[in-house]
Amino acid sequence: MKILVPVKRVVDYNVKVRVKSDGTGVDIANVKMSMNPFDEIAVEEAVRLKEKGVATEIIAVSCGDAKCQETLRTAMAIGADRGILVETTEELQPLAVAKLLKALVEKEQPQLVILGKQAIDDDANQTGQMLAALADLPQATFASKVEVSADKVSVTREVDGGLETISLSLPAVITTDLRLNEPRYVTLPNIMKAKKKQLDTVKPEDLGVDVKPRLKTLKVSEPPKRGAGIKVPDVATLVDKLKNEAKVI
Ligand code: AMP
Repeated sequence: MKILVPVKRVVDYNVKVRVKSDGTGVDIANVKMSMNPFDEIAVEEAVRLKEKGVATEIIAVSCGDAKCQETLRTAMAIGADRGILVETTEELQPLAVAKLLKALVEKEQPQLVILGKQAIDDDANQTGQMLAALADLPQATFASKVEVSADKVSVTREVDGGLETISLSLPAVITTDLRLNEPRYVTLPNIMKAKKKQLDTVKPEDLGVDVKPRLKTLKVSEPPKRGAGIKVPDVATLVDKLKNEAKVI
C-alpha cells in the first residue's frame, strides 16, 4: 500500500511573526522555517503503518519554492521513501495545492493520503477536504486514531461532543489532529540516509494545473495591543469592577 503525505514548509511554530509595515502580509524574511507540525504527525503515522507492515511505500510531496526540498528531506529522515517537489514561486492557496495533489493522486494511485488538518501559517484547514472532493475520495478529518484492515480504514475523530469513529473504504483522505501520535526525533544517521533518497521535481504545468491565486489578501494587521492591568485592593472591588466596569458578570 502506497501512502502520499503532503508536507508544507511554514514559519516555525516558535517564531513570533511580525506583520509587514505596509500591511500586505507577514514578514518571513530571515525567519526559521520548518515542516508544518500536523504534517510531521502525518509522516509519523505513515511511517508507523509501514513499520506495522501495512504500508509499503511512503511518498512525501511539497508544493512551493526550491527550499521545500529541505522539508522533503526532513520527511525522508523521519522515514518517507521518496519525495516529490512541485516547484513554483507563485503564492499557493489551498485550492491550487488540492488540484496539484489530485494530479499526483491520479499519477501515483496511493491507497491513503494523509495530510495535516491545517497549516499553521494561513490556518486554512481546507486542502484535505478540497482534495477529497476533487478526487472523489472518502475523507476523515481531525484523526486521533487510524487503523487499517484489508480494504478499509477506521478513523477516530475528535468532534465537539467527544470521539467519533468512522469506517472508510480505501483509497481515502485523512487529516491529522494533534493527538494522533508524537513524532519521533530525527536522528543524524537518518538525516544522512535521507540525503540519498530519491527526490523528483515537477512543475505545476507538468501536472496541467493553473495555480494562479483565486483569493486576494486585502490587509493583514496586528491584533489590538492589550492595555495594562491594574491591582485591586480586595475581592469586593474586583467583583464591583467586573460587574460595573467590565460588565462581564
Ligand atoms: P491548509 O488547508 O492550508 O490548512 O493545509 C492543510 C494541509 O494541506 C497541510 O497540513 C498539508 O498537509 C497540506 N498542504 C497545504 N499546503 C501545502 C503545500 N504547499 N505543500 C504540501 N502540502 C500542503
